[in-house]
Amino acid sequence: METLKYQKEVKALKEHSCNFCGSKINIGEAYMKSTHKNDGDIYDFKTHKYCAEIALRLKMYDYCDEGVTMDDFMETIHCKHDDLLIDQLPFDKEQPQKYSDIIQQLRQVKIKDKLWYVIRYYKKLDKDAETKPFC
Ligand SMILES: [Zn+2]
Repeated sequence: METLKYQKEVKALKEHSCNFCGSKINIGEAYMKSTHKNDGDIYDFKTHKYCAEIALRLKMYDYCDEGVTMDDFMETIHCKHDDLLIDQLPFDKEQPQKYSDIIQQLRQVKIKDKLWYVIRYYKKLDKDAETKPFC
């Protein structure tokens, strides 16, 4: 894959769908657009700003040489959501399966909700890091 135009912010003149999360990019919304060439086909890659940001934050570009696909993106969000959730549940050595039902249920959450959960988590993390005084 070759990049013809690097990612830049543009305003949506018509509705698009995000190449990362698959949901709608509304008219008038700022989104990220880049142009690529693959096997002779030229195509635009369009994503929400927040999707591009979380992809960067989770370093998805580092381990996807050929560019981050929707599958890579979804997979990373699913895993991250899972990790964050499991981290929050107290681990019970006596009953390691204690929360498995809850975890199963929470895995059924829609990708959009998972995505926002992960985004909020990192926003908070970054904010906490900013406000922490230097020692
Ligand atoms: Zn998106």
